[in-house]
Amino acid sequence: MGEATSLIRTLDQELGALARGASLECLVCGEFVLSWGREIRCLECGSRISVAAMSASRQSATSTAG
Ligand SMILES: [Zn+2]
Repeated sequence: MGEATSLIRTLDQELGALARGASLECLVCGEFVLSWGREIRCLECGSRISVAAMSASRQSATSTAG
């Protein structure tokens, strides 16, 4: 039953990498994304990720992890 947790962890690491600008790959389609102010935008599929939302999700993930 740990698959979901590991998936979330992977996503969390990916989001962290995106937030740091270390990895510029869309989580949805895998294409390159662009940093756009406080957002990361994928020109391929149009998905947008807010850096603030990333921080919030990371905090909530941490609080529920124990
Ligand atoms: Zn995309």
